[in-house]
Amino acid sequence: MASNIKMVEAPEGHTGEGFFATSMDKLIGMARANSLWPLPFATSCCGIEFMATMGAHYDIARFGAERPSFSPRQADVLLVAGTIAKKMAPVLKQVYLQMAEPRWVIAIGACASSGGIFDTYSVLQGIDRVIPVDVYVPGCPPRPEQILEGLMQVQELAKNESLRRRNQPEYQALLESYNIE
Ligand code: SF4
Repeated sequence: MASNIKMVEAPEGHTGEGFFATSMDKLIGMARANSLWPLPFATSCCGIEFMATMGAHYDIARFGAERPSFSPRQADVLLVAGTIAKKMAPVLKQVYLQMAEPRWVIAIGACASSGGIFDTYSVLQGIDRVIPVDVYVPGCPPRPEQILEGLMQVQELAKNESLRRRNQPEYQALLESYNIE
């Protein structure tokens, strides 16, 4: 069967085994960045802004992320939008742990980022107390454009991140250190 794959010459200074591996890494990163499946973890008002982001006007499909996944196993980016009560924190962490690597997290709005106006005993003062956060989107609530900007920043991470970074022992140790106390 005829193949459509064309071999290209390595640029000067890029020869040998390393050249192919590096190019493959970039190719996978590009594909991954343009097909991020979001898992919306929306609890309150910021979730409404995410709904607007999904609509025709802001059209998240332009970024290849129009397919929300409500199964953590098939999600790439966790979008936490809203106030997270401490009682919900273990659920959030469990959802995060169920996602396959590589995975990214966006904290949408002040509540998810820092507890926002709810500086009280029952509210988690930022989801980064229980899970690692890649991008913080400020605002109360943030505009859909800001949410899209956060998604574009995750795209940059997906393009450039090594496939193996999240499996490093240092990262695993960091993850285990998170708790809600
Ligand atoms: Fe609501 Fe503001 Fe908190 Fe978003 S940041 S969930 S808009 S109170």
